[in-house]
Amino acid sequence: MIRSVIIVGAGQSGAVTARTLRRLGYDGGLIVVGDETAPPYQRPPLSKEYLAGEAGLDELALLGAEWCAANDVELRLGTRAAAVKGREVELDGSAVLTADALVITTGARPRALPGVAGERVRYLRTVADADRLRADLVPGARVVVVGAGFIGSEVASTALGRGASVTVLEGLGSPLQRIVGARLGQVCGALQRDSGVDLRTGVSVTGYAETADGARVTTGDGQVFECDVVVVGVGVRPNTELLAGFDVDDGVLVDPYGLTSVEGVYAAGDVARHHHPLYGRKVRVEHFDHASAHGTAVAKNLLGRATPYSAPHWFWSDQFDRNLQYTGHCEEWDQLVVRGSPDTYDFVAFYLRGGRLEAAFGMERGGEIAVARQLIAAAAVPDPRVLADEDVDLTDLL
Ligand SMILES: Cc1cc2nc3c(=O)[nH]c(=O)nc-3n(C[C@H](O)[C@H](O)[C@H](O)COP(=O)(O)OP(=O)(O)OC[C@H]3O[C@@H](n4cnc5c(N)ncnc54)[C@H](O)[C@@H]3O)c2cc1C
Repeated sequence: MIRSVIIVGAGQSGAVTARTLRRLGYDGGLIVVGDETAPPYQRPPLSKEYLAGEAGLDELALLGAEWCAANDVELRLGTRAAAVKGREVELDGSAVLTADALVITTGARPRALPGVAGERVRYLRTVADADRLRADLVPGARVVVVGAGFIGSEVASTALGRGASVTVLEGLGSPLQRIVGARLGQVCGALQRDSGVDLRTGVSVTGYAETADGARVTTGDGQVFECDVVVVGVGVRPNTELLAGFDVDDGVLVDPYGLTSVEGVYAAGDVARHHHPLYGRKVRVEHFDHASAHGTAVAKNLLGRATPYSAPHWFWSDQFDRNLQYTGHCEEWDQLVVRGSPDTYDFVAFYLRGGRLEAAFGMERGGEIAVARQLIAAAAVPDPRVLADEDVDLTDLL
């Protein structure tokens, strides 16, 4: 039986793992190590309400000092784990901790854009990043966002809301294209343009320079964009460098139980590439709900409950006054069925492969996405005509 656990990484997954262990009655030693100084907090508001100045840090809290004291959890903040070898954690400053089990929840960090560096360049991952960026987003500020993925698009939306003028530069043909595909990416692009974003697609950043009173971003097709601040949102890299002797391949590899290749060491959240029984392959995703659910599953497995992690993924994004949601996982599909009206940004689209529903994406359609999630979990092969027919209640398919 496990009598001591160390969780490395005090973010969403780490906090949920700790909370679940205590909720399920684990009463052994529990240490959570995190390199940030703020107690664990939720990141999604950092590009939305928090960046807009509409929510405070206290509203984002995941694991407060009081809860930790009451539940006998040792929260070691401002402490970086320099290396993990077997079940040993070497902290910066050379102290070494060991436990019966470790959980690696070190998340991911923004991917740097080569050649773009300076006083006016921003990335967004932490509350400190958000504080700094918020100060830049004043009325009239000229903001260039590089990358129209979820973070870039949300920052563009919030910056517009704060009165900035916003140009988004995207290498692909449309925003969010890697996830939702070209057709619905075009819909996301139209939403951005209708909202006031100067969206440029199919462009790559080739030069960056700072001047006395601003910055200049150059693209491969010779365009020059003058701005006050540049926000780079071109993806993330998993924080795996500290792991010595683990199987790592774009994330630390874990089985459906969250176990790494090293005995007694689990991993969850953004840092882990997990084998998903439903998709039949390994995936690494960067979503809030996944980070929580994966942490919960790992906590159960630590306590011997043998819980494979198998629910379809789900995430949301709020941008340009629309709620976007996606469920499942589908990189290639042979049929795309649209229900509703993409023109008015009120629709849900279903991605099918070999007739089977693998993913769904929608705007303002949370209820139908929830149904789609259940259908995906059941490996359903729904009739495409029924999916497209607004007169049919999708719950009839369950
Ligand atoms: C701005 C922003 C907006 C987002 N919006 C959404 C959204 O709308 N919807 C959605 O589904 N998802 C969203 N996400 C994604 C979601 O927040 C992440 O998937 C989730 O936070 C991942 O949790 P995690 O615990 O794996 O990693 P994290 O929350 O990143 O936690 C990892 C922690 O480990 C720490 N750490 C790293 N290395 C070490 C080390 N060596 N030693 C000690 N500590 C270490 C990190 O500093 C961090 O505190 C957003 C993310 C960001 C950044």
